[in-house]
Amino acid sequence: MKVEEKIKEYEKGIKKVLITAEEIQAAIKKAGERIDAIYDGRPILLVSILKGAFVFMADICRAVHVPCEIGFMCAKSYYEGTQSSGVVKITMDLDRDISGYHVVIVEDIVDTGRTLNDITKILKDRNPVSLRVVTLLDKPSRRLVDFKADVSLFTIPDYFVIGYGLDCAEKYRNLPYIAEFGE
Ligand code: 5GP
Repeated sequence: MKVEEKIKEYEKGIKKVLITAEEIQAAIKKAGERIDAIYDGRPILLVSILKGAFVFMADICRAVHVPCEIGFMCAKSYYEGTQSSGVVKITMDLDRDISGYHVVIVEDIVDTGRTLNDITKILKDRNPVSLRVVTLLDKPSRRLVDFKADVSLFTIPDYFVIGYGLDCAEKYRNLPYIAEFGE
C-alpha cells in the first residue's frame, strides 16, 4: 500500500470532529482558573492516569498557577458482567507517599465511572489532605456507578471518541482534537 493510501485508511477512523483544539484550550484555561480558585495558593499534586490523560495533563498543568507537582500512574480494569467495582489493578504506581498532599486526579474520560470510583477509593486510603477529580470528558449516560468528577470540561453523548490522548487500538492519541471514531 502506498503512503497516501495508508494515511487515507487511517483517516477513515476520524468520523467527525466533536471538540476542536481551540475549544479544548479555552475550556482548559477556565478549568485552570477554577483549580486556582479552589486551592487558593495551596500546593497541589496532579496525578494523571496513563495513557489516555497524558495530553490533557500536559496542558492542564500549564493552566494552573498554584504550586504544583505532577505524578503518573497506570491502571487496568478487569470488569466482567455485572461487577461494578473493586477490580481495578494499579499496574504502575505513584513514586511517592501522597499523605500531606492536596491530590487532583487528572483523567481523560469518565464513562461507566468504575475506574475512577476504584482509584479514588485506593488513593483515599493513602490519606491525602484532600482528593478531587478533574476530567476532560464525561459520558453520564453510560454511568454504572454513582461517580461525579469535581471539575468536568465537556459532557458528550454515548460516542466512542478518539484524539487528544484517547486511542483506538493505540492509534489516534496524537490528534489535537476530539473526534467520534467510525469506520
Ligand atoms: P470507565 O471505568 O469510566 O468505564 O472507563 C474509563 C476508561 O475507559 C477511560 O479512562 C478510557 O480509557 C476508556 N474509555 C471510555 N470511553 C472511551 C471512549 O469513548 N474512547 C476511548 N478512547 N476510551 C474510552
